Amino acid sequence: MVMATSSGTSGKMSHVRFEFGALMAALRMSVKVTRYHGIITAKPCRYIVMGYKPHRSNKTAVAKVAYLTTFLAPALSRKFILKHTADGYKPDFESIVNALKKYEKGRAPVRFMGFPSYTFFLFRLLEERGLSFKLPKGSKVMLGGGWKQFYQEAVDKATFYKLAKKTLNIDEENIVEFFGAVEHPILYTDCAYHHFHVPVYSKIVIRDPDTLEPLENGRTGLVNLISPLCTATPILSVMTDDLGILHNGEECPCGVRSPYLEIIGRVAPDDIKTCAAGAADILQGVKV
Ligand SMILES: [Zn+2]
Repeated sequence: MVMATSSGTSGKMSHVRFEFGALMAALRMSVKVTRYHGIITAKPCRYIVMGYKPHRSNKTAVAKVAYLTTFLAPALSRKFILKHTADGYKPDFESIVNALKKYEKGRAPVRFMGFPSYTFFLFRLLEERGLSFKLPKGSKVMLGGGWKQFYQEAVDKATFYKLAKKTLNIDEENIVEFFGAVEHPILYTDCAYHHFHVPVYSKIVIRDPDTLEPLENGRTGLVNLISPLCTATPILSVMTDDLGILHNGEECPCGVRSPYLEIIGRVAPDDIKTCAAGAADILQGVKV
């Protein structure tokens, strides 16, 4: 069993290597999962990436994954909120606001992808300025990379969905969330009821924090992520420092029978740095 944090630490565990077979399996998985959730379409979109613009100084998985999602539907254009400057990455909210003014008049759907925190700060900025957009039909907000810190500490999902409707006219059903980790390269996508059902590519065991014995569904414990997808690095079974609950699939009305994971916090010491925490650092001092 490998000890790791779940969202891509900047320590040793972020150096996960993939063999060719695993990359192909991951690609097949991503296509199947995203097609199931209606995210792959032939209709060209305009992408607004609420994350890093790819740059040689940034090789984080978060940047790569966010970039890859802009290929799920043909891209007419890609805009990134985090720009690389001499002082490191800086968010550029104004350029996004200006882009929205332009995109609103067009026909192509707009797809947001990236950190929930930046997306939320954009919503708040628009609300404060009294701006609201009617984005073309089929527009979506896709979230990934930092939802734990965000939803537990900053804002609840209901508030987030209400602001998305108010500022961009995007309904809750068009807000999709992804969850994954470098050490556990499985794509979790939330269902219509915003639950992360465990896909066929992985298993999750919730363990007693003291004894590490498996707990039954419905009880809180340490999240153990298991998948045979990658063999180049020993990450078959990853013990995270996240606390979570596995709920029976039948408790969700969406029809998917596999259990779903609810992350409720982490037991990590403060000095473990994740991809999402890195983004939080950049956000410090940003006033919107
Ligand atoms: Zn469901």
